[in-house]
Amino acid sequence: MKRFFIPVLALLAALPLQAQEIVKGSIENVPPQGSYQPTFKSDGAKKKPLNIILMIGDGTGLAQITSGYYANGGELTLTNLRHLGLVTTQSSSDFTTDSAASGTAWATGQKTYNYAVGVDEEKHPIPNIPERISEKGIISGVVSTDLLDGATPASFFAHQPNRGMAREIWADLPGSRLSFFAAGDKERFESMPQETRDAVQARFTVVNRLDDPRAAAADRLGYLPTKVEAGYIVDGRTDFLPVSTRCAIDFLKNHAARKKGFFLMVEGARIDKAAHANQFESMVKEMLDFDKAIAEAIRFADEDGNTLVLISSDHETGALSIADGAPEKGNVSGTFAATWHTAIPVPIFAYGPHAQDFIGVQGNDQIARRILELFLTR
Ligand SMILES: [Zn+2]
Repeated sequence: MKRFFIPVLALLAALPLQAQEIVKGSIENVPPQGSYQPTFKSDGAKKKPLNIILMIGDGTGLAQITSGYYANGGELTLTNLRHLGLVTTQSSSDFTTDSAASGTAWATGQKTYNYAVGVDEEKHPIPNIPERISEKGIISGVVSTDLLDGATPASFFAHQPNRGMAREIWADLPGSRLSFFAAGDKERFESMPQETRDAVQARFTVVNRLDDPRAAAADRLGYLPTKVEAGYIVDGRTDFLPVSTRCAIDFLKNHAARKKGFFLMVEGARIDKAAHANQFESMVKEMLDFDKAIAEAIRFADEDGNTLVLISSDHETGALSIADGAPEKGNVSGTFAATWHTAIPVPIFAYGPHAQDFIGVQGNDQIARRILELFLTR
């Protein structure tokens, strides 16, 4: 037996990789979390918005959104919106982007190579939205369920040739134009060199809990919860994303100069990570949590009347399709055909003044340039 099997296994190992086996998953989300119904009072208004909130569901294509929609009984705050478009995501080096190249396109308006964080093809820094708008006195913040040095949040404050350079990315934070960050995590920060931690703490009031009394008095605030508090929902994260989103909005609104406004990027990072692992139930829970953060942003946009909210993605992950479902029971089944990203265009939803500028089919870099134009030409 043994003598027969070893050569067969060796032959199999030498064969080219076959297409990935399709992985099925399902969820019943009981009870549904409901959705926020927008007023639409400022939606499509022609005056330029004071504030812009960009929400990136990492790895969130139409099937990821639709899975959340069916699991939630056929509703999401996201799908209550009316201005829709599609976004192409290719990077300058690859037909299928990674989160660093796409994050950089979203953050700077310029395409670059996979793995690049805030630098161009020659590895020169590209000014990001927070840097460009700070010249006009407009402040910025980032919120993510990823590590702060994750490719998407890092693209909004760092300039490094490779997304894996976590130490260098953290070292870029004190010189950034951010006024607020909330992301993972306390343990990651504590693993950074003392010099970097001192420089970050000289620039930001860093807290591990939002009820820390120092948070209220901070000029620039960093919130780094524990690894579990910023980890997967299925591993115990609770309301970190929606609570941090609302906290970021309130902080930035209170600290913005009169008539200047703010820019905020919010990332639902773990939709992508769960899709890479082909964990359907975990992915749907992350999608539903991202929708709670979207509800916070849309609710604020209605209260404020002068805020544009854009919700999109950096790329699709997992070649997910919807196999079956019963929305009335909150039941949905999906199948993954890949464990990496795909080049399928991702949706963009827009709400508030100038939402109408974001319909149609556009590149991720074009959208970032449009955001900059709205801030810099008003
Ligand atoms: Zn990914």
